[in-house]
Amino acid sequence: MVDCTGLENRHTSDGIEGSNPSLSAKTGSKLDNGNLLFLIFSTPMAFQKISRKKIFWVLLLSFLTATLLMAPDCIFAIIVDNFKISRDWKAIFFLTPLSMGLVLCPYRWFLALILALLGCLQVMQFIHFAYFGIPLSPFALHFMQREMGDVWTEIAFFWKDYGYILPMTLIPFTLIYILNRKFSVFKSGLGILMIVCTFGSIGHRLCSDPTQRFMPNSQRITLYNSLKAFFGYFIIQYRHYDFKTYLPYSVEKNQLFERKGPINIVYIIGESCNYRHMSLFGYVRNDTTPCLKNLSKNNNNFIYKVGISGANSTIASVKFITNAIYEPDNLKQTALDTTNLFKLAKQSGFQTFYLSTQSDTILCSIGSVQHIDHAITNTTNPRHALQILTKKDLYLLELIQRQTFSEKNFIVLHQSSVHSPYALTYGQGYKAPHVFTGNPKKILDDYDNAMLYNDFLISQIFGFFNKSTHPFYIVWTSDHNELLGENGMYGHGSGSLNPETANVPVIVQSNDPAFLEKFSDIFAITHYEIAKLIAEQIGFNVINPNEEKNVFYTNGTDFNGKCGYIRFTKNLENQTIHYDEPSLK
Ligand SMILES: [Zn+2]
Repeated sequence: MVDCTGLENRHTSDGIEGSNPSLSAKTGSKLDNGNLLFLIFSTPMAFQKISRKKIFWVLLLSFLTATLLMAPDCIFAIIVDNFKISRDWKAIFFLTPLSMGLVLCPYRWFLALILALLGCLQVMQFIHFAYFGIPLSPFALHFMQREMGDVWTEIAFFWKDYGYILPMTLIPFTLIYILNRKFSVFKSGLGILMIVCTFGSIGHRLCSDPTQRFMPNSQRITLYNSLKAFFGYFIIQYRHYDFKTYLPYSVEKNQLFERKGPINIVYIIGESCNYRHMSLFGYVRNDTTPCLKNLSKNNNNFIYKVGISGANSTIASVKFITNAIYEPDNLKQTALDTTNLFKLAKQSGFQTFYLSTQSDTILCSIGSVQHIDHAITNTTNPRHALQILTKKDLYLLELIQRQTFSEKNFIVLHQSSVHSPYALTYGQGYKAPHVFTGNPKKILDDYDNAMLYNDFLISQIFGFFNKSTHPFYIVWTSDHNELLGENGMYGHGSGSLNPETANVPVIVQSNDPAFLEKFSDIFAITHYEIAKLIAEQIGFNVINPNEEKNVFYTNGTDFNGKCGYIRFTKNLENQTIHYDEPSLK
């Protein structure tokens, strides 16, 4: 029933066929009898007995299978301009068990089923990317299911444009099937276990409330993202998510779109910064921000104020920082990326950078990663990971010094400091880690010392960009607040909805007085309003028909409102804010 190579026939004395016929290449009939569990657990023993040549063939076939699984990505990258092959080193932990599982899989029908599933998913993934310019997400699958009429109409109209996707994907997947049936040197139930575990390792990560986990990560290979979309889609169906419908946003070019000449727009995302512990904002116990205070005194192009974050966790908040999104539960807008700052910047001819000391899971939240020319995170590759481990946020300074900037640059820098544990926030080489001491609550001294480090770091970044005689726009804000005893609470990560967790410092420096004036004029500026002002400088006006006058939202730990949100109203006359009771989904 199973074809073997000439290798099989030449080595019948390797112990497999003689010692346990059910583990040999002729095992199909035994496996069909349902002895799968026995096969799974006895396979490691059997591996000890098989010849080195067979192990070599299994490894070679696994390598060829992995290569063929990746082949559609390579072909697609040649055909589609804005699709980049991901340098996903972590793919080894995904492709190795998957391809070995396919090679070892004893059942012909199971192999065909898995390959058909993966092939179909990949076809949908590439069609989605070719049409929308963004990777497939579970929400996209959900909207496609609800709008099947439109989907079929568009397929009928565009199929000729995207016809290449079918052979590009299905030929490599068919070759995997042929290869693994033609040269099947060793089959085992362990193959099925490996495939199930690989799928399970993706599926189980989505079984939590925050929906940002469902979003694709463009630094991962497409097959990984396709499976993530597939499992996420079923979880959405299972949980019966109620998707609220909003009017669509529009994005219009403004007169700055065709702006000529050099320009730098720098958006720095701080971490867990409490403005009440910044001497720039009036904190008196310790002078935690001497460098920023100097910048403030010596420049009339420098403003600072208290703002309100889009969410109270990093990954949720970054969505609102890098995308102009107003509503707390606008799933369609979070999936569409039409107001993504990187995407808009690329459309305006900017070179784009996302340099971060945080992990690449944040990219799932940002979206539109294909519009980032240079993306570095602490998981991009082991070299950066090692540098970030030792230098922490000081590595950001090194990274900006190393970049080759073009005339128009949109640069997002994402810090890790001053995240808890505060005492471990310093990078190697920082000279003043423990200046403030003596507080009975050591945690407060630790935080103030970390804030002093943050002050040194961001003032250096400001200094790097603010010497330009060309237009520059530098905005720094925190992703969320960090409570340090306010109302008896600490931290930000408990998931509770508390308005104080949304209060964040905002600092802006620019040689464009009109830009500064706009920031100054907005009371309690929100991340949404900041994103709109930056989009404006990039060359686009974001128009959202769903806005209510002076009403805004701050989310819990999910950017689609699945972990609750707070609606609040700004009273511009009294300069006060009224917070509604938290809304919990
Ligand atoms: Zn954070």
